[in-house]
Amino acid sequence: MSDNSRLRIAIQKSGRLSDDSIALLKAIGIKLNIRDRLLIAHSTNENIDLLRVRDDDIPGLVMDGVVDMGFIGENELEEKMLERQAAGKAADFEVLRRLDYGGCRLSLAVPTEMDYNGAASLGGKKVATTYPYLLERYFKEQGINAKAVMLTGSVEVAPRAGVADAICDLVSTGATLEANGLQEEEVIFRSKAVLIQRADGELSAEKQALINRLVPRIDGVIQAKE
Ligand code: ATP
Ligand code: ZN
Repeated sequence: MSDNSRLRIAIQKSGRLSDDSIALLKAIGIKLNIRDRLLIAHSTNENIDLLRVRDDDIPGLVMDGVVDMGFIGENELEEKMLERQAAGKAADFEVLRRLDYGGCRLSLAVPTEMDYNGAASLGGKKVATTYPYLLERYFKEQGINAKAVMLTGSVEVAPRAGVADAICDLVSTGATLEANGLQEEEVIFRSKAVLIQRADGELSAEKQALINRLVPRIDGVIQAKE
């Protein structure tokens, strides 16, 4: 374990949120020495360590108090929150800021040849997704009796592979859907990256003071870009 007096921030090691999250930390004056293979990166000018992990692990690391802060997509955050609530685990955290990157939507898409007339067309069907809790919540809200089938990868090929009738996946441009003969039909969740921290009062006064010093700098960076 690293020094417990240092603020620990979880970021995605390698993926769509990594570069923008590191750029933001650097823009607010945190000097970082990131070595590609290492899990931990230390700041050389602030009492801060980065924990570089898969994005899926970040909500739980914050909610379990293993790290103090994290950069995460709202899609992943909301899914993990629902999953933990269903399992009776604590799911407390604070959203410090919604950020200006990582924008995407979680959408239902069906094969172009399917006769689709609204989400009710999915009644009795199987829908492949990496976000079963968000999808089941949508089905419940819409009163649709469909089944979410969990796939952690290759969701977009599930209909052609005969594994599911439709999919629910993250979309930004729609090019991947089109390339797989799928038509986007419903947006069920709109997401951006957010910066979260452990629940109020669970941090030492020193760490909370450091966070309170960093957040206005983030606002400054975001405003300067607008
Ligand atoms: P990891 O190896 O960390 O688990 P991953 O494959 O789950 O990575 P990425 O594809 O890097 O994750 O996506 C991380 C996050 O980036 C998503 O959860 C979402 O919040 C955001 N994002 C933005 N645009 C897109 C997009 N077009 N497709 C997928 N995710 C996107
Ligand atoms: Zn992931």
